[in-house]
Amino acid sequence: MPALTLTGRGGRSFEVPTGLFISNQFIDSINRTTLDVYNPYSGALLGTVSAGESADIDLAVQEASKALPTWRRLPGTEKERLLYRLASLIARDADDFAAIHALDAGMVYDQVRALDIRNATDVLRHFAGWADKISGRITDITNGTGYVRREPFGVCGLIIPWNAPLMITCWKLGPALASGNVVIIKSPELAPLCGQKLGQLIAEAGFPPGVVNIVPGHGATAGQAIAEHMQIRKVSFTGSTQTGRKVLQAAASSNLKKVTLELGGKGASIVLKDADLANAAFWTSMGSSANNGQICVLGSRIYVQDEVYDDFVKEFSVLSTQGTAYIGNPLDAGVAKGPMISRSQHARVMSYIDAGLHEGAQLLFGGKQLHDPMGTADENHASGFIANTVFVGVTEDMEIVKEEIFGPVATIHRFSTEAEVIQKANASEYGLSASIFSRDIDRVQRLSSALEAGQMFVNCWGTPSANMPFGGTKASGFGSDMGVEALEGWTTLKSTYHWHMHGE
Ligand code: NAD
Repeated sequence: MPALTLTGRGGRSFEVPTGLFISNQFIDSINRTTLDVYNPYSGALLGTVSAGESADIDLAVQEASKALPTWRRLPGTEKERLLYRLASLIARDADDFAAIHALDAGMVYDQVRALDIRNATDVLRHFAGWADKISGRITDITNGTGYVRREPFGVCGLIIPWNAPLMITCWKLGPALASGNVVIIKSPELAPLCGQKLGQLIAEAGFPPGVVNIVPGHGATAGQAIAEHMQIRKVSFTGSTQTGRKVLQAAASSNLKKVTLELGGKGASIVLKDADLANAAFWTSMGSSANNGQICVLGSRIYVQDEVYDDFVKEFSVLSTQGTAYIGNPLDAGVAKGPMISRSQHARVMSYIDAGLHEGAQLLFGGKQLHDPMGTADENHASGFIANTVFVGVTEDMEIVKEEIFGPVATIHRFSTEAEVIQKANASEYGLSASIFSRDIDRVQRLSSALEAGQMFVNCWGTPSANMPFGGTKASGFGSDMGVEALEGWTTLKSTYHWHMHGE
């Protein structure tokens, strides 16, 4: 099967196969459809991979169905061994994965290596440990014994976004496999190469053929085919709220498959008057611009109490504008800010900045495109950079405050009382995350119980952990990735009533 040759850091080259990964083989798509993969930094075509369509998804489902009985029956300790082996192989090839994220998603190599890959392997190891510990319960019932078993759904679909493709895949893959499901992973069309590399390692780890299948492809074809498929019993989706609605509709009008939705967010970060301001400025700066703001838990609405507003804004502004000095090729050492994922995402973010100006918000800093200081990016084809951008003088009804921008754009708001900030922070359709900065434990506890969010960060921001559930509420979705709670979403209950016959 043909492969793409990629060049990582320091000119080191490595290969990833270009086919669909079905039953441990890389194969062409049935209709020979392909997907062009671009480098958002340089604008260069990295290569072409096969793109799955409905018939390919169906083939993957048939192969996964064949693998299901074997995988279900495989002892938990064997599943554990394979998941552990996969985690070790990802750690071994961390340089390749970091390079892939830089090459097709524009993510900063050093940040991916330190955060995404570490978290991805932690999560696989965490769920490897669960594989032989998933059990039900036994109870007395009238004239007999009741057994409550937790059983896998069967063939499941995992639909992945482009903004952290390996980490988010592992959030789903670990618990899905540990609980005995077999899977079809739909890689994101803009950043499919992590999935290609992962397929290689699934085969190398020794997973039985068909247990994990990986199909890059477009959402409207491959993604929709998963959501509609009559033999797929569960879909775990991460992506925008808009697409999440389509997945839920497709599930409802096909076989009522179980759906987990990890959707968009518009997180509030609340800085109280007693906060450690240096700490608050550090985390809110990172929490409003990391990965160019292309992060679902972005804390892009920053609420600051009157008493510390001016001091906070000063510290925050220094930290948030420093990064501009370190833009460049995300593959290179020392670069802290890469390009946007695509030209259309760049245009979308710039249009929100225009909308903010048009609505009368006051630009504190940023608001413009940046140019590669080395001048090496081809500015006609590359996605381009956007300066970290912050607006003040904003109101809750402005578009830039209400909508998820998914770019390095934040708003700073003043508030006086706790009641006021709770009301404003909760006045959002989304409910994915919120942060609180304070040294007063009573305030922290009052606010953290009053805020509507699946993730609460206290004196920090965006620190996922394998043993904590991750998910949203309101229009940010439902269900959990990670934590022991995720296992509930990957298993269905079966109650068995065992009548005690009266023998002699
Ligand atoms: P997206 O919704 O455009 O795409 C996500 C995935 O869905 C892609 O693989 C895409 O191909 C697929 N898809 C598109 N149309 C589909 C359809 N009709 N049926 C089935 N699948 C379809 O999102 P994106 O632009 O890739 O990612 C950014 C969004 O993801 C943001 O809104 C962000 O907040 C969200 N996100 C959420 C989390 C979370 O855990 N809550 C994490 C990361 C990203």
